[in-house]
Amino acid sequence: MKRIEHIIGGQYTSADSTRTAAVYNPATGEQTGEVVLACEADVNTVVATAKAAFESWSQVPPAKRARVMFAYKALLELRADDIASAISAEHGKTHPDALGEVARALEVVEFACGIPHLLKGDFSRNVGPAIDTASDRHALGVVAGITPFNFPAMVPLWMIPMAIACGNAFILKPSERDPSAANLVVELLKEAGLPDGVCNVLHGDKVAVDGLLHHPDVQAISFVGSTPIAEYVYKTGTANGKRVQALGGAKNHMIIMPDADIDQAVDALMGAGYGSAGERCMAISVAVPVGEETANRLVSALAPKVAALKIGPATDTDADMGPVITAAHKQKVLGYIDAGVKEGAELVVDGRGFSLQGYENGYFVGGTLFDRVTPDMTIYREEIFGPVLSVVRADSYDTAVDLINRHEYGNGTAIFTRDGDAARNFIDRIQVGMVGVNVPIPVPVGYHSFGGWKRSIFGAHGIYGPEAVHFYTRLKTVTTRWPTGIRAGAQFNFPSN
Ligand code: NAD
Repeated sequence: MKRIEHIIGGQYTSADSTRTAAVYNPATGEQTGEVVLACEADVNTVVATAKAAFESWSQVPPAKRARVMFAYKALLELRADDIASAISAEHGKTHPDALGEVARALEVVEFACGIPHLLKGDFSRNVGPAIDTASDRHALGVVAGITPFNFPAMVPLWMIPMAIACGNAFILKPSERDPSAANLVVELLKEAGLPDGVCNVLHGDKVAVDGLLHHPDVQAISFVGSTPIAEYVYKTGTANGKRVQALGGAKNHMIIMPDADIDQAVDALMGAGYGSAGERCMAISVAVPVGEETANRLVSALAPKVAALKIGPATDTDADMGPVITAAHKQKVLGYIDAGVKEGAELVVDGRGFSLQGYENGYFVGGTLFDRVTPDMTIYREEIFGPVLSVVRADSYDTAVDLINRHEYGNGTAIFTRDGDAARNFIDRIQVGMVGVNVPIPVPVGYHSFGGWKRSIFGAHGIYGPEAVHFYTRLKTVTTRWPTGIRAGAQFNFPSN
């Protein structure tokens, strides 16, 4: 059985880890590997390794750090298929979907290739008599990233390229549920010429996370995962004096206006609701048609498509979606469907009985559609993270906007309409960080930044793009006087021009 180890100082090692966690193929339910789980001593080892590597890496000229990124980009492109296979084997998403994940990760590497330009400072001559001021941004030191299971390569690569291009040393703590893809992408950094110790992988669970949150030599933490853990990481990290960005869960709504192209909206909802079995933080999990007629048309067009979803293992090239991540998560999703029925939602398509011949032990859940969901129901309030779409009927556009603005999450949202006035009003009023107009999954490209609002994020900075430069560096402003011969005598008042 495959053993998945840490990467510390460029070497695979179990270090002092004695505990392990099982890793499964979600399509078959078979255990395919075991991942080592770090102990506190391992946290100390990896932080010391990263700290030592930071000393020289932070002094490497940005243009040379960029060259590593260029080489890395080429290697990721070359090995995209292997990375996608590693993702699918432990996550279960289809191979084309996994390739899409790698493609989006590549955008962040491409942006990091421009790091000399991004780190360029500001200079002002003659701010006073013979006085000049220069500001530029400096690396923080050792920074850590803690990532979720649902994008086992992309989310680590939302962090790593910008963190290291800015001159930091990085420690990645990937999800213990699908850890192999993270090792592969970090392994390729070594091949791209990154010095050992600049990017490390520490596998583990709460012990590893807590160790990083409390270690005095870790300067900053990037976290992506569920809201309760994001909040915990933010509060604990900041209480320990660290800079923290913690991105959490979501409940993304899509408004369908009466004038929308229903076929286009239905196609969008199928991909955004059921792609990757609904296990995306930008998945649409709530459709909000405006008006009874729009709702009736939408539900009658959606229902047969949801019932006809092709569900299969990642190796099935025809599959629209795969299984969910674990047996426990499957039970959780089924529990939400039960709760929806009990609380009075109308179950239009029931995915609970789904079984796939030859894969009876896989963690498959059939596509599920609820209509007449109301805001007080558990399936509306909580993030299900499965192939379950809820329709909440709104009697007006204003009701739909209020509904979204009242939800505790504010990650992504969309409106489908042909009305420019409505679209512009929506962009203005909606309390959500990432907004789509006739675009169901508005994940920003690598040169913009990603981040939600409300309880979908803790901390001031979005992830990747220009926000990452600010998060992974700190400002230094230098004021100089040349020549030194000018004498104004001792000045006891606050300096001013
Ligand atoms: P999770 O919160 O369970 O795990 C995320 C990370 O935290 C993992 O590395 C895990 O090992 C660690 N962790 C788990 N429990 C912990 C604890 N008690 N103490 C310390 N660390 C702990 O999330 P997940 O189930 O892996 O991922 C799915 C969640 O991530 C969903 O809520 C999804 O919306 C969210 N997500 C958000 C974004 C975003 O950008 N906002 C992106 C992807 C996923």
